[in-house]
Amino acid sequence: MLLTDDLLLAYKRCDRRFFLNLWGDRRQQDPEREFIQKLRQENQQQINDLLTNYDWVRPEYPRGDWAAGAAVTAALMAAGASCVYRGVLLGTGKALSADATLEFLGRPTFLVKQPGRSRWGDWSYQPVNVKLGKRPKPEYKLVTTLHAELLEQLQGAPVVSPELVLREQQVYRVDLANWQPRLRAAIAECEQVRAAATAPEVFISRQRCSLCQWLSYCQTEARAQQHLSLVPGITPSRYRDLQTLGVDNLAALAQLDPWQDAERIAPEIVSQLRSQARALLQAQPLLLADRPLAYHPPLPSAAIELYFDIEAEPDRNLDFLLGVLVVNHRTGTERFHAFLAEDPSEEPLIWQQFLALLLRYPGAPVFHFAAYEVDTVKRLAALYKTAHAVLPESLDRFVDIHAWVTQSVAMPVENYSLKTLAKWLGFAWRDADASGDQTVCWYDRWLRQGDRQLLNAIVRYNEDDCRATYRLKQWLGDFLASASEPPLAVNS
Ligand code: SF4
Repeated sequence: MLLTDDLLLAYKRCDRRFFLNLWGDRRQQDPEREFIQKLRQENQQQINDLLTNYDWVRPEYPRGDWAAGAAVTAALMAAGASCVYRGVLLGTGKALSADATLEFLGRPTFLVKQPGRSRWGDWSYQPVNVKLGKRPKPEYKLVTTLHAELLEQLQGAPVVSPELVLREQQVYRVDLANWQPRLRAAIAECEQVRAAATAPEVFISRQRCSLCQWLSYCQTEARAQQHLSLVPGITPSRYRDLQTLGVDNLAALAQLDPWQDAERIAPEIVSQLRSQARALLQAQPLLLADRPLAYHPPLPSAAIELYFDIEAEPDRNLDFLLGVLVVNHRTGTERFHAFLAEDPSEEPLIWQQFLALLLRYPGAPVFHFAAYEVDTVKRLAALYKTAHAVLPESLDRFVDIHAWVTQSVAMPVENYSLKTLAKWLGFAWRDADASGDQTVCWYDRWLRQGDRQLLNAIVRYNEDDCRATYRLKQWLGDFLASASEPPLAVNS
């Protein structure tokens, strides 16, 4: 078997992904998202910027012929090249695994020459990997350790301090003594997963799975199994705790006694998960009996209401679209305002336009979904030195509909994103495939290509987000006003 650094990285993220990458039917993968392509381009730009610091050479070999690539890379290092860009390291399993037939392939971003004796003379090399992340993630450290091990075999000399270069050129040195045992353990686990007859158990985790191309495939399997990872609030560690309590399906979770093992899982957590399981089984929303006092009805409402949503590019620390839907119940009218920075330099302008709209409707509640809008208003106010008198009055009017939903109701959904909740209510976005990260790609392309259709698509998506928030608020207000105590109260 050839264990590549890409497979090892996949394993560190998810053992099932490793298995599917090895043995799965690639035709069942989702198409690669434009957002992933954008990340790859940004990483390449980061590498290109660093290349200007080096006198580098890139090995040439027939595509996919790793043995040839490794031979050329070794020849370049033997000749004393000061930096080998995208070299190939091939090694056997002797030092890394009990299975001597195992082969390893690593492609570090750079192999950088440094002082120190090696089989070639008075010089040696160290691997340097360039990653877009802000943090030195464990999977990066693991892969860099593999590169260091392969390089040691090749050059006959130790690698002292392999490096990760992260976003904004932060340099992080990988502690090999710490990571070498973990690498060997991970390789042994990879061999076990590879040899298994079936893929590891599915576990849908929003954070881990959202960018994975096997997501649709895994969701289908999880839904067929009614897998507990589809219940909002069930993390891998809670899942293990529930299994210890003999709970491995929705029906069992719906009946779980909150006090069965209070040492292991807090009763209030069990109550919350139990309500969620009941909502899913009954396919209907359930009022939470133990919701905090702050979320008892009535939901704020007024003759004029504002619905607010932001499109942002976190990497640039830029909020480029502040969208507000003004709903006037008195006149029965709705008007959408898109404060759009066609150029990043216009952020202060759109901030002032947004503030002017807020001041035009004094006292009107500002509904939004989740914490980002409030955090951003504070950020922009600090950045552009907004008068202290304006901001507190404005922030008092903000109402987080996500918090209201999650604190008041168990919904029959797999997650509490605006998309999922509003779709459950029958709301449809005009661009079915649009998403927050897609708008980041569109905005990036607008800046490079100047295609106004992209700006129009962003504004349309943002308006739909505002309208979805409005729809959800209306539904929640009606539900809270009419709901009696649920037939199966969470503390029953
Ligand atoms: S979708 Fe999630 S569970 Fe499935 S392979 Fe990808 S990361 Fe693993």
